[in-house]
Amino acid sequence: MTLAALPVQDLGAYLQAMTETITRVLRVDTTGVLIRDEAGDALVSLGAADEASPPGREPLLARLSLSEPSPLATVFRTGLPYLVVDVRDEPRLPSAFAAAGVRALLAVPLVVGGERRGVLYVASRRRGAFTSADQALLGVVAARVGLLLENAELARRRAELERERARQQVRQEFLGIVSHELKTPVAVIKAYTEVLQQRAERAGDAEGRRILARMEEQAGRMLGLIDDLLDLQRLQSGLLSLEESDADLVALATRVVEELQTTTQAHRLVLHAGGPVPARVDRRRIEQVLINLVENAIKYSPRGGDITITVNRAVGPDGQGSQAVLAVSDRGIGIAPHDLARVFERFYQAQGGRLHRGVRGLGVGLYIAREIVERHGGTMWVESAEGVGSTFYLTLPAAEG
Ligand code: ADP
Repeated sequence: MTLAALPVQDLGAYLQAMTETITRVLRVDTTGVLIRDEAGDALVSLGAADEASPPGREPLLARLSLSEPSPLATVFRTGLPYLVVDVRDEPRLPSAFAAAGVRALLAVPLVVGGERRGVLYVASRRRGAFTSADQALLGVVAARVGLLLENAELARRRAELERERARQQVRQEFLGIVSHELKTPVAVIKAYTEVLQQRAERAGDAEGRRILARMEEQAGRMLGLIDDLLDLQRLQSGLLSLEESDADLVALATRVVEELQTTTQAHRLVLHAGGPVPARVDRRRIEQVLINLVENAIKYSPRGGDITITVNRAVGPDGQGSQAVLAVSDRGIGIAPHDLARVFERFYQAQGGRLHRGVRGLGVGLYIAREIVERHGGTMWVESAEGVGSTFYLTLPAAEG
């Protein structure tokens, strides 16, 4: 038999060709392959050949519910072969067989990768056409078919993995090139704008200075977006490494609060902290997380107000060790309940994010922040009520002492 030479790309076409080969080589009238469907409650025809009818015709048996008391369902359930001299003697068999003139029927289980997957049957219009020798032969054929199916499935899975890997690679290369090619020129524009601002200041050109300040701000935002893209790429390719050192999270939060207070007059940033909270962290990354949370708090509190940043120590969730708990709380627009679970997703923007005026974010800030925190062994979550405000929490393992 030349089954091995059959095509493997399309399983349906493959099985169809296989049934035709079996019909011809075993000199039977009909061959059918029934495979368990995805739900697992029926066997469906994936290939059927009949000597008397042209290929492509409706199979004698298109579907067989596994809850039916049919001997074919029993073959699948028990794994035992089934042989009948004349289908008219067995009323529990589908009536389509007898109606099509079938008399003798032989069925064996089909095992793929050690798992029972379906039934292979052959039928003849001649009463008593099959013997136990045919039964043994069909068993051998079914084992071979099972093996080929397994290979076909493996090949298909391998091809899928290969395609996915290629897609990933293209995406990564694209992101890498775009980010690097964009970052340098924008950084240069920003630097020159700063120089021009100083000149305008010296020349007493207030209007020029104002325009250049806007330009610098926008270039800064663009750099922020490019950095987000780069971080996203590093996270996806597993290249984001942490450079951990001993740090005091209160000192770190103080710096962030002081820096960001200069960016807003409408909001008052208030830091609540007791004594120092030491932790081993990548300072630059945790600073990035905190900046992101406070900037969001500012961005999504358009009417201004207090933004509270709290840094505390607490007992770990297992009742042992200690952890640092940071919270950033605003009285802004809040987040709707159906968005709450999704704001940490990549590229997700809730209503507030989509409506935000000015340069749009990418909706990746919180995703990156949570990844960074989780890579430190911490957790991050949010509590929020629409129109009332939001509190973003994060925990980090605190150092002892
Ligand atoms: P971006 O701010 O760039 O859209 P983020 O990942 O930082 O992306 O935030 C995702 C979304 O979560 C935002 O678009 C916004 O809808 C919502 N969000 C984040 N922080 C707040 C906040 N403090 N108050 C209300 N909504 C927020």
